Amino acid sequence: MDCVFCKIVAGVIPAKILYQDEKVVAFPDINPTAPTHVLIVPKKHIASLAQLPDNESVLVGHMVKIANELARNGGIAESGYRIVINSGKEGGQVVPHLHMHLLGGRQLDNGMG
Ligand code: 5GP
Ligand code: ZN
Repeated sequence: MDCVFCKIVAGVIPAKILYQDEKVVAFPDINPTAPTHVLIVPKKHIASLAQLPDNESVLVGHMVKIANELARNGGIAESGYRIVINSGKEGGQVVPHLHMHLLGGRQLDNGMG
């Protein structure tokens, strides 16, 4: 297993697990860029959004649902937040395991690159 997020899913690399179910796990980003910066990660290894099989697109809807719950529980639902999925090199993806960023707790720029 040569994937940092698979290692976190397996408990080989420690992370503060904020939420988990049979499909996903959520934990704080190790290098946060906002007061709230959480990663929502599928337990199954999928390399990127571009690699998501068509018949698994419901998984991303589930990740959005969990991000919304974490935003509510983190007290940023009213002030506002952003969810981001980077895909591929020019999309800014560094870790090649599908993940969603939940960002909030400060004024974010327009984020359109
Ligand atoms: P990407 O640029 O691929 O969308 O985002 C990858 C994110 O994973 C980065 O924000 C980075 O800080 C985070 N990250 C990388 N390695 C680790 C790790 O071992 N633990 C945690 N919690 N976050 C990590
Ligand atoms: Zn992986």
